[in-house]
Amino acid sequence: MPTEFEFIENLRKKFALKRIGDDCAVLPKDSKTDLVITTDLLVEDVDFRLAWTTPELIGNKALSVSLSDIAAMGARPVWAMISIGIPEKLWDTDFLDMFYQEWFIVSKKFDVEIVGGDISKTPDRVVVDSIVAGEVAKGEAILRSGARPGDLIFVTGELGGAASGLKLLEGGVRLESAKSWQKTLIYKQLNPTPQVKTGIQFGESQMPSAMIDLSDGLSSDLAHICRESRVGARVFVDKVPIHKKINSLTKSRDEKLDLALNGGEDFELLFTVDPKKIFVLEKEHQNFPFHHIGEITANAEIIELISTGKTAILEPKGYRHF
Ligand SMILES: [Mg+2]
Repeated sequence: MPTEFEFIENLRKKFALKRIGDDCAVLPKDSKTDLVITTDLLVEDVDFRLAWTTPELIGNKALSVSLSDIAAMGARPVWAMISIGIPEKLWDTDFLDMFYQEWFIVSKKFDVEIVGGDISKTPDRVVVDSIVAGEVAKGEAILRSGARPGDLIFVTGELGGAASGLKLLEGGVRLESAKSWQKTLIYKQLNPTPQVKTGIQFGESQMPSAMIDLSDGLSSDLAHICRESRVGARVFVDKVPIHKKINSLTKSRDEKLDLALNGGEDFELLFTVDPKKIFVLEKEHQNFPFHHIGEITANAEIIELISTGKTAILEPKGYRHF
């Protein structure tokens, strides 16, 4: 059985699909603007469990994960469509009211207009399809393919929080009775914040040479940049920002690193910058907590993990759906 990535890669080759392979498709809009568009499917018991979350949190996540893909292109989100299939047993509850209420709160917050969608019944599970479109100046969408040897690698925020939250949920911890540190981590998993403002600023400054959002996990998402850019990377273990609350979950350095390197769904931005442009980072983005974690190499598709005195190869672990 091919993995999800291999399946898409095969489709891309078989049908010579030229516009896939990035966080969003980039389409011409007019002489000054490109349209970027993304779609995300959330399936009950694959991407979320009703017993672990709430209809409001699903509404937020459905929109946020797509907004994160728009941010990863350096674009401004503008329009959205939302389709949902729900089973009979939820049809007569307040599930849809709560779902859409939160969805609209998030769309208002980021100034996104709903322009369509669909609704249907399913035999027994909830399925949500979220489509978001955004705009970026012509030719200025930040792609996965722009990284060059010598570029520096950065992430916004701290990593591993969402995967730790998932671990707590899998271990039986629930939001209602969670301790404060547990709640923080569970919210990272169930209530992600897309980096919309940073994405728009990066589109305007054109600072990153390549960018992706961290949905699959650092090891996999950096591998996506390396593959599309035909480069390699070197990551300095001590520079990887690990979410502080993970210290309460585990004392094991290896486990913390595993969560930060391979855990998915943090929805931070991973980006590369030509060292010549670093002054833009210092001048325009002082208030953002970026972390320099490594550099791009010419060693195609090899990601080296450097810690004091030794080098290992970082394999993409992929996002583990539960
Ligand atoms: Mg993405």
